[in-house]
Amino acid sequence: MHLLIPAAGSGKRMKAGKNKLLIKLKGESILYWTLKSVFESKEINWVGIIGQPNDKDKIMNSIKDFSQKINWIEGGKTRQESVKNGLNGLPSNASKVLIHDGARCLIQPNLIDKCCYELRDSEAVVLAVKVTDTIKIVNKDQYIENTPDRDNLWAAQTPQGFSVDKLKKAHESAIRNNWTVTDDASLFEMLNLPVKIVEGNTLNIKITSPLDLKIADLLINNY
Ligand code: C5P
Repeated sequence: MHLLIPAAGSGKRMKAGKNKLLIKLKGESILYWTLKSVFESKEINWVGIIGQPNDKDKIMNSIKDFSQKINWIEGGKTRQESVKNGLNGLPSNASKVLIHDGARCLIQPNLIDKCCYELRDSEAVVLAVKVTDTIKIVNKDQYIENTPDRDNLWAAQTPQGFSVDKLKKAHESAIRNNWTVTDDASLFEMLNLPVKIVEGNTLNIKITSPLDLKIADLLINNY
């Protein structure tokens, strides 16, 4: 299975002044920990990292032994654009692809494998967890509009897996229609294509804020 890692963010929300994936946890970069899990997966045999050109040397140095096994693809201005570039950088024999955010460094290898198995019989899968909080839909004046039934609410994570042809077409539709999305499954939904949920776990956090970093540090140090 082919896997693409969007890693071309700027780390603005982390306020780190650099790509957050270069921040160290237990002596190694966040991206190193993500790749460690990816290469422990039994199913992944091709990995592409999508990054900004000015981060290339720093990223390659931070992932050590894995750098020989990596295909480098230039990122774009948004995650959406970065993934589109990633799809164009896949080898021509890639029929299905997993996309996994570099910032989800606590992903467990068996969950990557679970997504691969499920993707064999589907066109699109998303790792997700049931939400435990009660979620409110809120208007721009900060008043609640309604409360969706919690039984139907899942929080989407990555990996997300797709048929390469269909995802490429979905990204082309997005450009034609000016759709902006924060994950790839949203493009399938907009085209009314089915996306299957694969149940994951809440350990698979995305490192976004300094608090996430502290949580990840605690977890990695207690593995
Ligand atoms: O900013 P956020 O954490 O939502 O980004 C999710 C992932 O997308 C990160 O791994 C980040 O590096 C990546 N990204 C990207 N290209 C961008 C912006 C974000 O590959 N232009």
